[in-house]
Amino acid sequence: MTPQAAVLLQELSAICGAAHVLSQGDLSAWEADWRKRKRGKALAVARPASTEEVAAVVQACARHGAPIVTQGGNTGLVVGSTPDDSGTEVVLSLQRMNRVLALDAANMTVTVQAGCVLQALQQAALERGLLFPLSLAAEGSCTIGGNLATNAGGTQVLRYGNARDLCLGLQVVNAQGQIWDGLQGLRKDNTGYDLRDLFIGSEGTLGVITAATLKLYPQPAAQMTAWAAVPTLEQAVALLGLAQSRLGPGLTGFEVMGQFALRLVARHFRHLRVPLHEHSAYCVLAELSDAESAEHARQSLEQLLELALEKNIIDDAVVAENQSQARQLWHIREAIPLAQVEEGLNIKHDISIPISRIPEFVSHTEALLARSISGVRLVNFGHLGDGNLHFNVQAPGGQDARHFLQTREAQVNALVYESVRAFGGSISAEHGIGALKVDELAHHKNPVALQMMQAIKQALDPLGLFNPGRVLFR
Ligand code: FAD
Ligand code: ZN
Repeated sequence: MTPQAAVLLQELSAICGAAHVLSQGDLSAWEADWRKRKRGKALAVARPASTEEVAAVVQACARHGAPIVTQGGNTGLVVGSTPDDSGTEVVLSLQRMNRVLALDAANMTVTVQAGCVLQALQQAALERGLLFPLSLAAEGSCTIGGNLATNAGGTQVLRYGNARDLCLGLQVVNAQGQIWDGLQGLRKDNTGYDLRDLFIGSEGTLGVITAATLKLYPQPAAQMTAWAAVPTLEQAVALLGLAQSRLGPGLTGFEVMGQFALRLVARHFRHLRVPLHEHSAYCVLAELSDAESAEHARQSLEQLLELALEKNIIDDAVVAENQSQARQLWHIREAIPLAQVEEGLNIKHDISIPISRIPEFVSHTEALLARSISGVRLVNFGHLGDGNLHFNVQAPGGQDARHFLQTREAQVNALVYESVRAFGGSISAEHGIGALKVDELAHHKNPVALQMMQAIKQALDPLGLFNPGRVLFR
């Protein structure tokens, strides 16, 4: 360790307390990404307990020229929250700043520290009879700061929008170590540039989010979940249209799962019994949130499914009998990422395409893939209601997954992303860019947009202190 680094460690210890600045022992929880694709080496992990401590950490790092990688729950999927292997980056963990600060029921808002775990926030809202609708499979460990920094999506975007749409205000520590307090909780505020929206989705490259004021909604009177088998992706899109016209804003979730994705769940999680997937190409999970009653919800959903059967849109369907059955159906959907891990690493794509063009995109791209890699398998599932697919490419059966990834990733990415471009889509719908897709962004983003992003980065973080080399090239 250089003498300067040793001085920085001493300063960080003075700010956070020696017990909360880690530089020795097993730091893998902070240094390796969730998918275990990359393991870096941090100079130290600093765990401040307050916004003032965050500001002091940023000032100290700036003085010593030490880059900062901000980290929440470390569940991100694009290697954005872990250090590189230089041993010079400080991981700034918000884990200790996990409190719910205030809940204003009349204003329908809640203010939390950035390290608050998503599930704890959902629970705090529920205890007051209210709903915080952001929901994703990592909710037991991801944090609100991470959700906002990545503009996370999840399973209820269709009705409530993504993290950006749920945020009214932020508190941020900027690259100069100053605190910007923008936590008013106003639904209207047209006083110049929207700085909040600049930090949301910036993946830790512009500042450290230390707290947020978020929107709450009424808890629905009832939720009802249906599982339908459809013969084709065209019919899944047709079912979405029918459900939107019949259920309106009551339709809060609409997920699609390809047959192979469901087979992986059935194979690796035998206790989760996957309904109706053997004979149909896709299954759909639809959720209705009803303001009236469970009875009304069931009726609306059953009528929708009868109509869909009559019109030959679906092969078959079931409606969950109770909340526990509904949970089981959602477990199947949520188990797909884990079933992929069991099957072996695959090449992931988190893409969005205009919903109307998704069926054509999938058949076109699937055919191209099959032609270039014989026997390749597609784990295709996602948030169809948002036009967002997790379009993952798995090695042919029996082949070594790691070898497949090493030898085929560039080729598969080029093929898939070219196709995404041709269909007017985006190469990252909800997971972000991180370190993983910097090259791809440089290649696929509009050059004028990239220039403006560079100019914003330069203006707000001229020293390149925050997450250097993530999202944009250094
Ligand atoms: P981290 O992983 O710690 O960080 C993510 C990025 O945000 C990094 O660039 C980091 O530097 C930055 N960051 C973190 N905290 C702050 C802060 N306070 N201030 C500034 N920058 C910060 N994502 C979805 O969008 N939809 C899904 O449905 C979804 N499902 C998932 C399912 C599983 C099983 C897993 C493992 C992940 C899933 N994700 C999903 C991805 C991930 O959970 C989200 O990106 C989440 O929002 C990250 O939160 P985090 O606290 O773990 O952030
Ligand atoms: Zn997703």
